[in-house]
Amino acid sequence: MTNPQRFEAQRVAGIAQSDIRLMSRRCMEVGAVNLGQGICDQPTPDLVKEAAKAAIDADQSIYSKYEGIDPLRAAIARKMKSYNGIECDPDTDVMVSAGSTGAFVAAVLSFIEAGDEVILFSPFYGYHLNVLKLARPTIKHVTLRGDNWEFDPDELAAAFTSKTKAIIVNTPANPCGKVFTREELATIAGLCQEHDVLAITDEIYEYILYDDHEHVSLATLPGMADRTITISGFSKTYNMTGWRLGYSVAAQPLTARMGVVADLVYICPPTPLQHGVVAAFDLPASYYEQMSADYAAKRAMTMEACDAVGLRSLAPHGSYYLMVDVRDAGFTTDREAADVLLNHCGVAAVPGSSFYVDPKDGATQLRLCFAKQDHDLERACAGIRSLPDVMASR
Ligand code: GLN
Repeated sequence: MTNPQRFEAQRVAGIAQSDIRLMSRRCMEVGAVNLGQGICDQPTPDLVKEAAKAAIDADQSIYSKYEGIDPLRAAIARKMKSYNGIECDPDTDVMVSAGSTGAFVAAVLSFIEAGDEVILFSPFYGYHLNVLKLARPTIKHVTLRGDNWEFDPDELAAAFTSKTKAIIVNTPANPCGKVFTREELATIAGLCQEHDVLAITDEIYEYILYDDHEHVSLATLPGMADRTITISGFSKTYNMTGWRLGYSVAAQPLTARMGVVADLVYICPPTPLQHGVVAAFDLPASYYEQMSADYAAKRAMTMEACDAVGLRSLAPHGSYYLMVDVRDAGFTTDREAADVLLNHCGVAAVPGSSFYVDPKDGATQLRLCFAKQDHDLERACAGIRSLPDVMASR
């Protein structure tokens, strides 16, 4: 008998299904409310759905250019200018991708290889780490700490070497909700220029901001336009995580490379859905204001429920995740807390250790996603509030 495992390529050794997906599967098995995976299961705007249906009816069913349909790239370029302050040419600098992950994979496969070093902040989004691993660079971790999840500028400077090829910047950040300030980005920009390093940003939560936090795109800082790949997407802003539509914006030579790679991996993003999402750019400013207000209310509801049972948290500045510490709720490990919440409170969450290279760093944390419809979030909060009774009866 042959052992099928012996066929496994080295590049995937040690890469397993993410805890994010694992918790979704377990959640479905027990019928809990999923505050684990950042699914964002609220309705997609009607005009986007109608436009996609019309595109299907009109037989917009064939491949698009690998970089995406022209009207969508034109709309993205306009948005990049008006929202992000990035000037780009829709014909050469914009690539529509299969989710923002599609653009991230294309960037990593195009520019990173064994022998390179890449800087990644912790806690990280595990997909950033694991996609990087496919390209086999050495990964240098810089930890975000304290009430504002800050990095130590000296630690960051020390992480840059002559081998550094790229730095990954996720703002607003998954899982900790950090929004990088202009000053922090200036520090990163200075180091990128000093060491001639590429910046790959993930700005998928760019519209989900709280209080007075401002989203700043690294590419707008002096000297960064030609060395930054700005990645974002439609999933989170328009509640369409399953449509798998994202995009990247970067200087023409970088975009051209990435386009060829994306073409090899999946040819093009789904054409009728690209036609549908063009309509999203017609949504009024009030759509985004309402979204922010709704998420602020969901953040408050979730934090209050957690606080009431000793799941201590720092208010995220952006994104829709809450990192809670489980110790005051009577737990010693994240996995124990995740199991009890899932099996006894009916709430799925992601163990914090999955967001750090050394699992010990997140071993008393859990990530909760509050991008849920209010009735589901209310049910989840009631489950969380039942935790003391569950603990008392254990
Ligand atoms: N970005 C979302 C999260 O962090 C979804 C990721 C995923 O399904 N892989 O939960």
